[in-house]
Amino acid sequence: MNELNQDGARALDAADPLYGLRDLFLLPSGVIYLDGNSLGPMPRATPGRVADVVQREWGQDLITSWNKAGWFASPQTMGDKIARLIGAGAGEVVATDSISINLYKLLHAAISIAEDSMDAATKSQKAVKTTKVIVSERDNFPTDLYIAQALCHDRGWTLKLCETTEIEEHLSAAPGIVMLTHVNYRTGAMHDMAGLTARAQAMGSLVVWDLAHSAGAVEVDLRGANADFAVGCGYKYLNGGPGSPAFLWVHPRHVERFSQPLSGWWGHAAPFAFTPDYAPAPGVARYLCGTQPIISMAALSCGLDTLLAAEALGGMAALRQKSLALTTLFANLVDARCAHKGITVVSPRVDAQRGSQVCLTRDSGDMAADSNFCYAVMQALIARGVIGDYRAGAPPIMRFGFAPLYIGFEDVWHAVAHLVDVLNSEEWREPRFNARGHVT
Ligand SMILES: *Cc1c(COP(=O)(O)O)cnc(C)c1O
Repeated sequence: MNELNQDGARALDAADPLYGLRDLFLLPSGVIYLDGNSLGPMPRATPGRVADVVQREWGQDLITSWNKAGWFASPQTMGDKIARLIGAGAGEVVATDSISINLYKLLHAAISIAEDSMDAATKSQKAVKTTKVIVSERDNFPTDLYIAQALCHDRGWTLKLCETTEIEEHLSAAPGIVMLTHVNYRTGAMHDMAGLTARAQAMGSLVVWDLAHSAGAVEVDLRGANADFAVGCGYKYLNGGPGSPAFLWVHPRHVERFSQPLSGWWGHAAPFAFTPDYAPAPGVARYLCGTQPIISMAALSCGLDTLLAAEALGGMAALRQKSLALTTLFANLVDARCAHKGITVVSPRVDAQRGSQVCLTRDSGDMAADSNFCYAVMQALIARGVIGDYRAGAPPIMRFGFAPLYIGFEDVWHAVAHLVDVLNSEEWREPRFNARGHVT
């Protein structure tokens, strides 16, 4: 059976043991949701669970819920669920704050640890000494760079940005810290986490990984890769809902070496002793700052449970295999059916180098026209219920995320069929698809 036709795609769904997991979500009918990499859809369990937190736990049980309903422990409870998805140990992860804030805390601690190693290297007259440099990629997600910029300014470090192809060269200059996003938010290109971590550490560098487009989408093995620090997102592939807490992980070898700069009471060793002096909690709890958004924590819990439901069916390894099959099918269909319109696949074709998304562009030589085209084609697709998103830049990108929990092979087939229609009918030229909103 040829998978490049609709019957073939349907047969792949019928043979897919993970297919039933889509019932864990409440997706509007008629929608093919290919934007779970930006905001995951709502799990079926979420509205009831959130209502219960509000009406019973808060409304009836009031302040007793901090203990009785486990509110106080929720950063750790969620952290332990997340740990199972990213190759971390129990007690090593907390769900809290946003990626931006978590990066601030982790980079601050990493800078202190790196400076300590530099001092030790000077004292022992070691030949290789790292420099006060954070290396990152120019096309990393901007908030990561903004946070690193401000910290470098405050602590007398330098942020060096490079192209992906220049990373190895920068590693050989022994930067104190390497901060990378595992899967690129625009192109879907994925780094070799274990290899890069090992090469950076061989130069004495510490490595901070951003798992925003990895956690819940691809297999991650932080312990196996011997990474130093990691952050990740709750509202993307973890389906935690808008405003969901993010998460952070610190390798146990570092976690108690330094306290983080946002030394709030939730990270105190004895928050309810109310002593005037700060003393960091043991372990990763010291990376908490203040009171957590408990209602959002409940929504995150439902999102995490959708991923953990796949554990009985092979877990992240099985989800990753399916995700690769989905993205490969999408790219092959686009090649076969849209190439005549100048559409090309930007994301890597090699499985090991691709996350769970496929990005398309058009390169006609006129960048402004191509940007408008990509934007308008995406708006036309969204109007048809095929929801991806547009990302400005060079090249401009139409981005399609394939979350294997709820996307099937026939969805892929339909998405490309709509794309073909939008292109052939030139529907994208309609004025309503060419007016830009605030959030793209
Ligand atoms: C989505 C995303 C973020 C989001 O940061 P917040 O502070 O949680 O809003 C950060 N970094 C990357 C790489 C992302 O993809």
